[in-house]
Amino acid sequence: MDTTLRTEITVADICDGFVYNQLEGKGLYGLGGKLTIQPEYQRNYIYADGGGKKEAAVIHSLLKGYPLGLIYFNKVAEDQFEVLDGQQRITSIGRFVTNKFAIMDDGNPKNFDSLPADQKAKILESKLLIYECEGTETEIKQWFETINIAGIPLNSQELLNAIYSGPFVTLAKAEFSNSQNANIQKWSAYIKGSANRQDFLERALDWVSKGDIGGYMSSHRTENNINELKTYFNTVIDWVSSVFRDVEKDMKGLEWGRLYEQYHSKSYDPAKVSAEVQRLYSDPYVNKHRGIFEYILGGLHDSKLLDVRVFIEATKKSVYAKQTKAAEANSESNCPLCAVGHASNKSRIWKFAEMDADHVSAWSKGGGSSAKNCQMLCVTHNRAKGNR
Ligand SMILES: [Zn+2]
Repeated sequence: MDTTLRTEITVADICDGFVYNQLEGKGLYGLGGKLTIQPEYQRNYIYADGGGKKEAAVIHSLLKGYPLGLIYFNKVAEDQFEVLDGQQRITSIGRFVTNKFAIMDDGNPKNFDSLPADQKAKILESKLLIYECEGTETEIKQWFETINIAGIPLNSQELLNAIYSGPFVTLAKAEFSNSQNANIQKWSAYIKGSANRQDFLERALDWVSKGDIGGYMSSHRTENNINELKTYFNTVIDWVSSVFRDVEKDMKGLEWGRLYEQYHSKSYDPAKVSAEVQRLYSDPYVNKHRGIFEYILGGLHDSKLLDVRVFIEATKKSVYAKQTKAAEANSESNCPLCAVGHASNKSRIWKFAEMDADHVSAWSKGGGSSAKNCQMLCVTHNRAKGNR
């Protein structure tokens, strides 16, 4: 049995000669009569059920440029096809283009003819991903059962590779999707996933395109080199491995492209960085080891990245009790900052729930999270003191 991936067929092609049979509830033909959309054995059209949400979703997907997923054709004779899978999506498109239903746009129903010209064109020019399968009925049936059981759907990068197939993707895959590439081990220290499932390619594209993978692939589709992609990727990897001499398992999967853009112009002393990494790893108050690297790159300011462990409830309660008892004896507020203020809260006794724990000596300056470094402040004063 042969399968051929077709990526050039547009909605306009599919809808050429589209016929919908109202009585039977079926989309009948497309592709200028070459395509039988719903052969007898297929179930009827169901996407109009339940208020038509599903058929409208198909059209909104096209308008937003989202992929509709794979469609399978069975090649039954030369230039004659039947839809094996995708008849609901195709029928939705055909019905919309022939004004059989409307979609909601800013609260107004719009059928195809009442859409602006650019939206009509966007729909008609949308390309579909179609597998043509050719073989005996038994082969096709078996194969189809297998893919449905195995059921490993294409992931987003695999889909993009299919959509933007061409010389650029071929070269990019040879570099980043080749599990025999000797660099994979090095890359794996910083990037999660596998070559086979396109995870390295996806990261490389993500970094160089600053997140616009589809746009980048589209504009480089016909190029015969991947120099920019490869150079940028290696620059990021080399930068990470020169700043951080030790490889820690928490480095895997961090947003290295973003971090490179943000920090590569600063200079770091790798020996000092290494000592800082080790110090933070051994600090029992640091909960989030993944945040250590950005914390260091940013100059040790943003301790939120580390999720520094806060005081446990028992510590807070005992400090609250002690502070409140002493405050009541002196007729002053149990918030030490309120007590020295001039406002009406000078002698206010706050409830436990109205206060928060504060590090007397800031964690970033070596203060721990034990009772002797804990004071309770009213919520307002605690917030004013900020996260240090
Ligand atoms: Zn206060």
